[in-house]
Amino acid sequence: MNTFEQMQEGRPTGPLVQGYEVIIGFETHAQLSTVSKIFSRASTAFGAEPNTQASAVDLALPGTLPVMNKGAVERAIRLGLALGSHIAPRSVFARKNYFYPDLPKGYQISQYEIPVVQGGSVSFFLGDEKKTVRLVRAHLEEDAGKSLHEDFVGQSGIDLNRAGTPLLEIVTEPDMRSTAEAVAYARELHKIVTWIGICDGNMQEGSFRCDANVSVRRPGAKLGTRREIKNLNSFKFMQQAIDYEIRWQIGELEDGRAIQQATVLFDPETGETRAMRTKEDAADYRYFPDPDLPPLAIAPEWIERVRSEMPELPRAMAERYGREHGLSDYDATQLTQSPALARYFDEAVRAGAAPKLASNWITGEIARRLNLQDIDIAQAPVTAAQLAALIGRIGDGTVSNNAARQVFDALWTGESSDVDAVIDARGLKQMSDTGALEKIVDTVLATNQKNIDEYRAGKEKAFNALVGQVMKASQGKANPAQVNALLKAKLG
Ligand code: ADP
Ligand code: MG
Repeated sequence: MNTFEQMQEGRPTGPLVQGYEVIIGFETHAQLSTVSKIFSRASTAFGAEPNTQASAVDLALPGTLPVMNKGAVERAIRLGLALGSHIAPRSVFARKNYFYPDLPKGYQISQYEIPVVQGGSVSFFLGDEKKTVRLVRAHLEEDAGKSLHEDFVGQSGIDLNRAGTPLLEIVTEPDMRSTAEAVAYARELHKIVTWIGICDGNMQEGSFRCDANVSVRRPGAKLGTRREIKNLNSFKFMQQAIDYEIRWQIGELEDGRAIQQATVLFDPETGETRAMRTKEDAADYRYFPDPDLPPLAIAPEWIERVRSEMPELPRAMAERYGREHGLSDYDATQLTQSPALARYFDEAVRAGAAPKLASNWITGEIARRLNLQDIDIAQAPVTAAQLAALIGRIGDGTVSNNAARQVFDALWTGESSDVDAVIDARGLKQMSDTGALEKIVDTVLATNQKNIDEYRAGKEKAFNALVGQVMKASQGKANPAQVNALLKAKLG
């Protein structure tokens, strides 16, 4: 029995697909947001001309020596603190030996037996169920270069700009039991690494790449053989790839074939996964400690200093929103999707908005519009202060919810930046003069005897119809609460 097998003992069985349980473990490469590379002073900036950012160290020219980038270590410490991991006081760099054209040294500097971050976990909600995925480890390593096939006819080029870019490889236990859970895990991890500022999270540029290890088994059986889907660089592809892989593996088993351990690639064009190579074992890499680098020593004082600089984490913030503002866990989780979104909410509340209403607007109307236009909260045309002003006008009865939506639209489309000006210009002020309202109510009652009779006979719907009539007669400006009260009083 291997250690993964042991770690899975006693975990509840996940949802079955055609009678099989799905088991998923993730390896994620987060590119660390340092200015320079992990062992050299070359720039890590994305998108430069090929081979303009590869120093002698990155090219592995004879006589060069790697020098550890402190910023990369600090980012590893941040992740460890965020995920409740053990931060090793002493970890070791190892050489992972393999031959590939984009790997100039013939080995990759990584960590093997003693990684810098050990254990810890990532918790998140899947629907309303809380899930916890345990981490095995996170280790520091350097990225390789890139082979370029596009710009050459019948030839390939190598761009070594990426060689030596710092990565943190974050490895989970095979704790996930469905595609949805795996994607939710990846989203949460993505949120955390960007939140704590260790990775820019840009998936298109390859700053956050996930490898999904997938296997299936009959409930209660030993772990099945896994296939590893490499380099998933969008959440959409991740979902498609894992779903396809699950169906493919079940199909193979149902046809009486065994699964071969393999590394596979997802092809977005066909929506299929395809074997790239049969899987190497660790032994094939001939790992050994890198003699050019001393063990990485991290003193407790360093950890404490990093801890004191950590921002409040999204989960802690969501719990605080629950405590301080009485928000549901679901709403609070929505608001803590990004620091910018949380800041927007905080600002609206500070500007006087009722927290529950601010939350409803942000997770409802605003989220919908951001989605529609595919923009970020930072680009929202309505400021938190404007939202607060609008919410204030709903609260003091100046406008109805319906009218407020019109005001919001005017703010969003740039018609005006002033809430009161829009209310005046569009004549959206709620009718709160009871005299005028009473006249309308009387007219409606005088011309809708049928509804009155039905209401008296016990039909609630008839009452709503009367409210609707009054609202219509007032051109939507009547205060619904007042209409209700007036009608109730008059109908006895
Ligand atoms: P490597 O892929 O480099 O050989 P490991 O052997 O440490 O690394 O395992 C990598 C990943 O595979 C881990 O995320 C682990 O959770 C996952 N994994 C291990 N066994 C299984 C399995 N039977 N099914 C699905 N995932 C698995
Ligand atoms: Mg792997």
